[in-house]
Amino acid sequence: MADQFWRDKRLDELDAREWEALCDGCGQCCRVKLEDEDSGVVAVTDVVCALLDPVTCRCTDYVNRRARISDCIAMDIATVASLSWLPATCAYRLRAEGRELPNWHYLVCGDRDRVHSLGRSVRGKVERETDVETSDYESRIVRWIQPK
Ligand code: SF4
Ligand code: SF4
Repeated sequence: MADQFWRDKRLDELDAREWEALCDGCGQCCRVKLEDEDSGVVAVTDVVCALLDPVTCRCTDYVNRRARISDCIAMDIATVASLSWLPATCAYRLRAEGRELPNWHYLVCGDRDRVHSLGRSVRGKVERETDVETSDYESRIVRWIQPK
């Protein structure tokens, strides 16, 4: 991978490895979303996909994820631009907007745990969908205030 590719390259210039490496591992995109049928507004919950490990915040079957979870989204440039609910801190969103990665991103600070220790990830904040009744989803809508 090129030195500081995350800073020097646009999203459309990244190779496949660089693209994957850009993810900060926050797990926030794997939260269950609810869409209002009338307004189209999307709300995010503190419930996560059955395949997300709530401690590591990583997908437990990343290679087969789209075969196993039908609504798992393949992140690419077009989807990044279209997803209103992507967190403001998502590295893909930041770079799509021409902004720099934050100091706590592991590519910048060299510490993969920083995203968790600073409370930027879903660690300690979520339950898997297999442990939550579907009828309870609406009461699980949350909008976390991200720490500075
Ligand atoms: S929200 Fe963005 S940075 Fe966080 S896990 Fe998802 S794709 Fe990666
Ligand atoms: S299948 Fe994996 S990557 Fe897709 S939403 Fe679930 S945990 Fe996230």
